[in-house]
Amino acid sequence: MFTLTTSVRCDALAMGNAFLAGRPENSSGRASSLTTALEKVGEDLKLLAEKNDIFAAQLEILQDPLLEDTIKEFIDSGQNEVAAVGSASAAIVSEFEAIDDEYLKARGDDVRDVCKRITQCLTGSSNNDFNDVREGDIIVAEELLPSDTALIDLSLPSGFITSKGSITSHVCIIARQHSISAITGVKDCYSLIHNGDTLIIDGSKGIVIVNPDGQTIRQYQDILKRRSASPCIAELIRSSSRKVKLMGNAGNLEDIHKAISDGAEGIGLFRTEFIFLSSNPLPDEEEQYSIYLQAAYACRNYPLTIRTMDIGADKPVAGLEIKGQENPFLGLRGIRVSLQYEDIFKTQLRAILRASVAGNIRVMFPMISSIEEIRRCKVLLDICFDELNKEGIPCSYPQSIGIMVETPASVLMADEFAEEVSFFSIGTNDLTQYILAADRGNSSVATLYNSSDPAVLKAIQITIDAARRHNIEICVCGEMASDPSCAKLLISMGIDSLSCSSF
Ligand code: PEP
Ligand code: MG
Repeated sequence: MFTLTTSVRCDALAMGNAFLAGRPENSSGRASSLTTALEKVGEDLKLLAEKNDIFAAQLEILQDPLLEDTIKEFIDSGQNEVAAVGSASAAIVSEFEAIDDEYLKARGDDVRDVCKRITQCLTGSSNNDFNDVREGDIIVAEELLPSDTALIDLSLPSGFITSKGSITSHVCIIARQHSISAITGVKDCYSLIHNGDTLIIDGSKGIVIVNPDGQTIRQYQDILKRRSASPCIAELIRSSSRKVKLMGNAGNLEDIHKAISDGAEGIGLFRTEFIFLSSNPLPDEEEQYSIYLQAAYACRNYPLTIRTMDIGADKPVAGLEIKGQENPFLGLRGIRVSLQYEDIFKTQLRAILRASVAGNIRVMFPMISSIEEIRRCKVLLDICFDELNKEGIPCSYPQSIGIMVETPASVLMADEFAEEVSFFSIGTNDLTQYILAADRGNSSVATLYNSSDPAVLKAIQITIDAARRHNIEICVCGEMASDPSCAKLLISMGIDSLSCSSF
């Protein structure tokens, strides 16, 4: 028995057997899953090439070291495998297209197709090493990105342990949505834990106990039993003297169905960027329209708050490379990406307007820090609405328009923003990092990153008061809302609704 520690405290509590995942940050580990994908695509293309020369040409592209070397360069620059394949594809195709040679130009399509096959192999289930996860396992990894968790059957693991990340890393958010106990910032977990080790996660003490003795196991069995009997968010809301709405956070249709059947009165945050993450090319209007419409139906008559794509920083997407961001959290992310790539943004807005015929859709813009940004969003929404009407395509204006309040600027200008929108949703995950200047994903500043810090609470109160003055709805959708002790405080501070990952 030995104990590993982390400075990232949380409410995670679990016991189970260790399942060691790939090593996303270790180049040899990364190469092994990329290598498997390249081999699998090679085998498929060899079979296809026997019947059609196009595939013989694609096999040549795959076997040319240029492709693999370019992918590895992007991996070494910090991208995950899926994103690196997308970036390599874009880089090689643009080189081909710059050459004045029709034959090479046409081969750009083959490069794209080969890369699509590699991406499918990396994200598909056939080569998924998470296929061997068993019920109750605790997955141990250097880092788990959204593209990794997309490969896991999230009904199985009881815990995640990673050496990187913080309490609001996306791995923790996804874990919470699926009642998985996640603990991050556990240094050396991947080298010191072995497959099959018995593990106990105790986030309140910031520890992972490896191969505990019988007495420790019994002690934690008791704690686990008591935990399952303590009040949850839904009970807190039920017992509150104020009327507070319970909403759910979702990243896909499955989450929406689960939240509504668990008792949510709507979706307060639909993170649409998850639709974009491993999709290369990006999902088109029809694909998005279909998803948003299904999402609206899944909410029955409750509101569905669609947050427009919040990509960049910790959420890179394969189909849209954002280069040269030395400080990604202070760079092109959230609404800044949308306003920089207006065609992509308009495609999403059109899909939302079309799905709004379902009647219960609210649209919300992330990372707003200036009045000009929200005004431009509204202008683009109007332009899309007019275009659809002119084209005779059925659409409807969203029920309401709101912003995430997650930058210090949006807090300080809350009165002015309240004149522009009909609801605020406080994104405490980002608000905490920007108020305290502590990166939400960096475990070395995890002790500074604290959503209950007086400075953050003061920012929340300023926002609530401004919303009250202007009579607009005020919600909290950051992870703070899903922590029962913080939720109690938020209710007493005057929020109208909590949008939670689990309740
Ligand atoms: C937040 O920042 O609090 C939030 C809910 O958005 P995300 O975690 O997706 O950045
Ligand atoms: Mg945010």
